[in-house]
Amino acid sequence: MRVHVIDSNHLGRSKVIGVAALEAEDGSVTLIDPGPAVVFPEVRRGLERSGLDPGRVDRVLVTHVHLDHSGGAWCWAEAAGAQVFAHERGAAHLIDPERLVASATRIYGDEMSRLWGPVKPIDPRQVTPLKDGGKVAIGSVTIQALDTPGHAQHHLAYWLVEDRLMFTGDVGGVVIAGGPAIPPCPPPDINLESWKKSLARLRALLPARMFVTHFGEAQDPATRLGEVERRLDAWALWIREHLRNGVTEEQLVPMFERFVTGDLRAAGVNDDLLAVYEQADPASMSVTGLARYWRKFHPEAIV
Ligand SMILES: [Zn+2]
Repeated sequence: MRVHVIDSNHLGRSKVIGVAALEAEDGSVTLIDPGPAVVFPEVRRGLERSGLDPGRVDRVLVTHVHLDHSGGAWCWAEAAGAQVFAHERGAAHLIDPERLVASATRIYGDEMSRLWGPVKPIDPRQVTPLKDGGKVAIGSVTIQALDTPGHAQHHLAYWLVEDRLMFTGDVGGVVIAGGPAIPPCPPPDINLESWKKSLARLRALLPARMFVTHFGEAQDPATRLGEVERRLDAWALWIREHLRNGVTEEQLVPMFERFVTGDLRAAGVNDDLLAVYEQADPASMSVTGLARYWRKFHPEAIV
């Protein structure tokens, strides 16, 4: 199966949100993580530039229902009649996005429409919920859904069995332009224990190639997955120490930004690339997400 990575140019910036487009023998196209509605026109153009027909987008596979990944799935259901596949815990939010939009609005406020664009309900007949191990057939090729919680409770990775290709959404981390792999930790679902189990499961499959939403193909999958786990631990422990010492979340944000920036610079990331990392995986979100993790699952660890 040929994989094209379409740069959605989110907010005019390259390499933030990459849409994987699988080109089947029959000319049909399957998108993995179509991005938010705001990038729909750019993804259409990108498909055309790659010689793919946007009208033949028959399937959209969503790794999880965060807006940067799936906010624009409805556009493809409407414009191309696509069938949308998502985790059984996330599918209902595609059919009735009201609660999802309300919770995102608490985080993004007035920025909602600029960042993501509109979110509309998808006809229930065009939404297929997937369980762990659920299969999607594309001609003779099979894509398997892998329940991979940790970043979100409704997260799937997609495993293209025949070619050993893996699409890891956010659970496999953010890896931009050959830079380091870092874990995106936004609220409300971060869970270290389940995230690590998910990473072990993905590693054990020995993927030949790995694609992440932020951004594109990540070389050397096993090393990258290990790097995500190492940083997940390091970030979580850093947050735990500071919460223990009575630092507030508000105070933590600029401190954590400096901590992450230092780590990324040490790994060879320059200023331009830092801005891409920050747009794909904002440090302030990870402060909130990781602080919530400690309060919710290990309150005794931060007193
Ligand atoms: Zn994401």
